[in-house]
Amino acid sequence: MTNETARRIVVLAGGVGGSKFAVGLRTLLARSEPMAAVTVIANTGDDLWLTGIRLQPDVDSLLYALAGVNDAERGWGRSGESERVSTELRAWNAGWPWFTLGDLDLGTHLARTGWLREGVGAVEIVRRLSARWPLGVEILPMTEAEVDTIVTVRDGDGKRTMHFQEWWTLHRARLEPIRFANPGIEMALPAPGVTEAIARADVVLVAPSNPVVSVGPILSVPGIRDALRDTGAPIVGISPIIGGAVVRGMADVCLAAVGAECSAAGVAAVYGARSAGGILDAWLVAEEDSATLPSIRALGIAARVAPLWMHDTDSSAQLAADALALATDVSGL
Ligand code: GDP
Ligand code: CA
Repeated sequence: MTNETARRIVVLAGGVGGSKFAVGLRTLLARSEPMAAVTVIANTGDDLWLTGIRLQPDVDSLLYALAGVNDAERGWGRSGESERVSTELRAWNAGWPWFTLGDLDLGTHLARTGWLREGVGAVEIVRRLSARWPLGVEILPMTEAEVDTIVTVRDGDGKRTMHFQEWWTLHRARLEPIRFANPGIEMALPAPGVTEAIARADVVLVAPSNPVVSVGPILSVPGIRDALRDTGAPIVGISPIIGGAVVRGMADVCLAAVGAECSAAGVAAVYGARSAGGILDAWLVAEEDSATLPSIRALGIAARVAPLWMHDTDSSAQLAADALALATDVSGL
């Protein structure tokens, strides 16, 4: 890092946890380091086709939160939303009746789908969607390929598969998952700009996102893990687990499906130390989880405690400051 005032910061992120963190990071940098450039590499494993339109939920959560047009109370979608189109679709028995599509949100999906049909790539589409607001952050989808997450669940004595959104939204993750897969991901390429951003980064942060279904797909795109291993930037992750429990969402069942413990140390072990073929140099854990520090350090990952609750923009900004401070400290080692 030669120039403190123009650091390049890359964040790997899912939807809700990722966007709270990204908003905090942007707020921090606006105060302390306005020249810094942030690239958020977003999970697209949540994507789906529904009634002929393409949805990119994690990208849109980031977009709406950074634009300040998100519904913060509900935790997803646009604020001031209405559901007239959704009501019509239900009357036709079209699509998924349990999957709410807001009218404003549908505008985004229609714009995206129209551009896709014209042959525009996903990166350019996200750039066009982002250009509407002064986001102050670049959002890059992890890949331009369609690699929707498919979940295999236990079903009596057998098993069955379904789209991630059916499992998550309809079944509320209550069906026991055995496996998460992104068919075709082994053939997918990182989206243009993704590995370049990682290679040129001064700092890489792994947002407090779901390690299995948000960050997991990003790391499964061939080339992204290698780029992380090779970058000269320190890689610091923030635990999505606080006090041994998920803050929000269903990361616990996701972790169980990959044989990992639902703890700050369990998630650190899923990512692994960069020195041992994983991706992390350092891991920020909640004060409530300070007892896990020795087992994280035993993995070869530097670890430190900090307040990890993102209650509001100030606490998210402080969390970003703590993550960047840890990055500076490990890069000096
Ligand atoms: P999704 O794609 O919308 O599911 O969102 P993400 O994958 O980006 O984030 C979900 C994760 O964020 C969950 O596993 C939560 O445990 C975590 N999370 C949510 N709020 C907070 C918070 O305030 N602090 C921390 N450390 N993690 C949080
Ligand atoms: Ca997600």
